[in-house]
Amino acid sequence: MKSAKGKKPKKPVAREYLIPDLDDMLLSPPDGEIVEALAEHYADILSLIGEDRGREGLKRTPRRVAESLRFLTAGYFQDVDQVVGDGIFEDPCDEMVLVRDIEMYSLCEHHLLPFYGRCHVAYIPNGRIIGLSKLPRIIDIYARRLQVQERLTNQIADTIESILKPKGVGVVIEAYHLCMMMRGVQKQNSKTVTSAMRGGFKRFSKTRMEFLSLISLGTENF
Ligand SMILES: [Zn+2]
Repeated sequence: MKSAKGKKPKKPVAREYLIPDLDDMLLSPPDGEIVEALAEHYADILSLIGEDRGREGLKRTPRRVAESLRFLTAGYFQDVDQVVGDGIFEDPCDEMVLVRDIEMYSLCEHHLLPFYGRCHVAYIPNGRIIGLSKLPRIIDIYARRLQVQERLTNQIADTIESILKPKGVGVVIEAYHLCMMMRGVQKQNSKTVTSAMRGGFKRFSKTRMEFLSLISLGTENF
């Protein structure tokens, strides 16, 4: 990050403000500088919405919001290869692998409000499998950015396709958007469902149906 012109250098911020999973961070500008600059903007925002930015309860709010935003957008500084690491294994398995109901939290790029829900990821291996814990981490790389649900779904599918070269990939995200629930149309119960199918999941309706029926089992209450 470029530092603002004419400003004196800021003191570095203590390490506890930094984003967890530091191992995954690549090319990250110094966190301290960014958090500090964001906090200044948030203090202005507090005044602009009619608050007294100096009152006791808000004293540390700009800093907290800045740290929180850094965490929620940490995906910009994460790299798939680094996150996946050595989590890919040779294996002759060629049956569908499905991890369903992976919690997902992201921010809509139009309103900077959360959208959240579940992500289901399936693939058919082609000689290689991926450690199951890596799938949620791949989701987070893209979810922790400003997003639209459609693009997020496609990015997850494309990433799995490119790192595993499987026979097919299917990704479905079901999510609630706070920008629809708290403002705008104010609809509380509409869930947005997006899907991205690659390879066998796109070509063969039988494969796709197997995936969709597996993910719909026991999900009535969501
Ligand atoms: Zn929105």
